Amino acid sequence: MGDFNYTNEPLNQSSDRYRTCKNAKNYDCKHKNFMARDRRSLFCTKKCADTFHNYKKVKIASSKLNGKEGNMKILQSLTCSTNSITINHHILESYGFDFEKYDQKVNVSSTNIGLLFENYILQRSLNDKDEVIIIKT
Ligand SMILES: [Zn+2]
Repeated sequence: MGDFNYTNEPLNQSSDRYRTCKNAKNYDCKHKNFMARDRRSLFCTKKCADTFHNYKKVKIASSKLNGKEGNMKILQSLTCSTNSITINHHILESYGFDFEKYDQKVNVSSTNIGLLFENYILQRSLNDKDEVIIIKT
């Protein structure tokens, strides 16, 4: 309960519960149009709401910066309430993150190499090759 805001009924554009997800333009929205379970819903899922709010937060933080400084702002905004998060690399790039601006490569395990950005390590998720894990050290 709470993670999904859509129902399984067929889409009906004349219903007052027909919605276009506010995060629909984003790469990872899977239910761009949906029938809302609750009339207040603006997003198809909690994940879409989180992505959208992170995006706004990060965009504002990094809009006037670029390259390395912009990268650091993005990493700081994403980890302000947690020490590590998993995020799709397309989303990270849409924030303006530049993967080429790392300080050095680090061995995170015998089979996985990470990229060091000051006090952050980015490593590829072993479960999903599109996801990266950001760890604040
Ligand atoms: Zn969505």
